[in-house]
Amino acid sequence: MTEWQKSNWRNKPRVQMPDYTDAAALAKVEAQLSKYPPLVFAGEARRLKQHLGAAGRGEAFLLQGGDCAESFEQFSADAIRDTFKVMLQMAMVLTYGAKVPVVKVGRMAGQFAKPRSAPTEVVNGVELPSYRGDIINELAFTPEARIPNPNKMLQAYTQAAATLNLLRAFSTGGFADMSRVHAWTLGFADEQDVQKYSEVADRIQDTIDFMEAAGITAETTHEFSTVEFYTSHEGLLLEYEEALTRLDSTSGNWLAGSGHMIWIGDRTRQPDGAHVEFCRGVLNPIGLKCGPTTTAEDLKVLMSKLNPDNEEGRLTLIARFGAGKAGEHLPRLIKAVKEEGAKVTWVCDPMHGNTIKSATGYKTRPFDSVLREVRDFFGVHQAEGTIPGGVHFEMTGLDVTECTGGVRAVTEEDLSDRYHTACDPRLNASQSLELAFLVAEELTN
Ligand code: PEP
Ligand code: MN
Repeated sequence: MTEWQKSNWRNKPRVQMPDYTDAAALAKVEAQLSKYPPLVFAGEARRLKQHLGAAGRGEAFLLQGGDCAESFEQFSADAIRDTFKVMLQMAMVLTYGAKVPVVKVGRMAGQFAKPRSAPTEVVNGVELPSYRGDIINELAFTPEARIPNPNKMLQAYTQAAATLNLLRAFSTGGFADMSRVHAWTLGFADEQDVQKYSEVADRIQDTIDFMEAAGITAETTHEFSTVEFYTSHEGLLLEYEEALTRLDSTSGNWLAGSGHMIWIGDRTRQPDGAHVEFCRGVLNPIGLKCGPTTTAEDLKVLMSKLNPDNEEGRLTLIARFGAGKAGEHLPRLIKAVKEEGAKVTWVCDPMHGNTIKSATGYKTRPFDSVLREVRDFFGVHQAEGTIPGGVHFEMTGLDVTECTGGVRAVTEEDLSDRYHTACDPRLNASQSLELAFLVAEELTN
């Protein structure tokens, strides 16, 4: 293969990317971003790769979660804090279930660009280009708002930098203290409607009490009071990705400086396309969404392009088939992985195959379908003798009503109350934590 260059993707067919009309404005933004500091560092990306390698071997478990699309308008310290908080709670419950470290990766600090099912959208007979995420255009349904504007990349960078800054502070500044995180969960499990989870919550509390009695506290033990938290997003807007790509002086390899992990979406995984070309050359851990149309042949080609050295932790395969469909699709992909002797980390995204339109007109996801897909995923791996390495959720720490169900049932009628997502429906804080308890049960079995 010819030597990789960060701009080579420009010679490949691209899909799902905007056609910027103002070439001069685009060039100016790219030049500016190229001078800005990277958001993450190569050593961090390498460390995450090691953790993901461990998840692939069953020695760790990945929890990846966050918004479908981060929003400029809803950006706030409280929203970041609340999602971070729920992820820590989920991680503690999952650690208890899996008895291995949980690798925490946010869909945060860069998850701005969205692939869409159609290039245009028609409302009341008016046709406009689709909304493609705040880094590209605006959600408002007007012709001006839908024009792709390259300057939005600068705002996305600024927001990502501020988000990451806060996440780094929360991770090490005392907020992540284990006994405190669990106290929040105990509060949740005490409430009447979720009491079925209180037994597990109490057992975790016993464990923490025991550790503290043995002298393992936030004061004495670093691991008790700090967490490693990583960022990820779909590497969709390649002008932005290229402009933040930097040479790592330690290894001589290229780093996508926009986030620790980037993934390739189900709509942009063409083996000869621009997105695969870009991702194959950066040292970061790479995610690859696998959907019902992923063939064994495609997967083999993609694995050899994206991980030619068969490095552990480099490639995470994110299965997203829909409830009841993993049995039909996952075995052929697992077989392809086995035939190639490929090292991969298998993760379940039970969100993207389970989107439906409610009778009340909202795009939603039933909690039961999400749970069912996770269970299918675990079941297939058990039957195949392979390892379920983690889960990938669209979720928020806010009390939204976007997905239906959960023990504190959100009904189709409730959806209109607090439906705030700019794109796909997210699990709310209570649904997310409940799911963690249920996944922990799968891990314990
Ligand atoms: C997403 O993760 O938001 C997404 C669009 O997923 P997929 O590519 O799997 O459809
Ligand atoms: Mn989504």
